[in-house]
Amino acid sequence: MAAKHMTYKEFTKQEATLVLTCDCGWEGKSDESYMDVQSKIVDLICPKCGKIVLILDIKIDPPLFGFSNLGTSYKDDAEKLINQFSSLDDPINGALHFCDELIWEYTHIDPNKREVKYWESTKKALEKIRNDNK
Ligand SMILES: [Zn+2]
Repeated sequence: MAAKHMTYKEFTKQEATLVLTCDCGWEGKSDESYMDVQSKIVDLICPKCGKIVLILDIKIDPPLFGFSNLGTSYKDDAEKLINQFSSLDDPINGALHFCDELIWEYTHIDPNKREVKYWESTKKALEKIRNDNK
């Protein structure tokens, strides 16, 4: 059985009730699986046998998905985020909007997840950068 695909948005909508199944007989919720975040996709991996059970299409450049950078400087991450939006007239607002979307999505999954705190801190760093530039 090939792994299922879905977009990140589809996933967040049904994550609460989604039951993942694997060829090895494992069944469980997404937070019981292992997440492997890559540049354009996230693999959800069976905790029993290690097979990929679901592939999420995130289409976000790797620097924006900074889970591995948790605990490093949020200001650096905020600046990376601004660079990603440098083609916009107002890159800081673009980055803030993007941050808000991610905070909303993660709050939807679990308000206590560390990703929410990460993006909230990045948002604060972005707001500080915006005020410093005034
Ligand atoms: Zn399995």
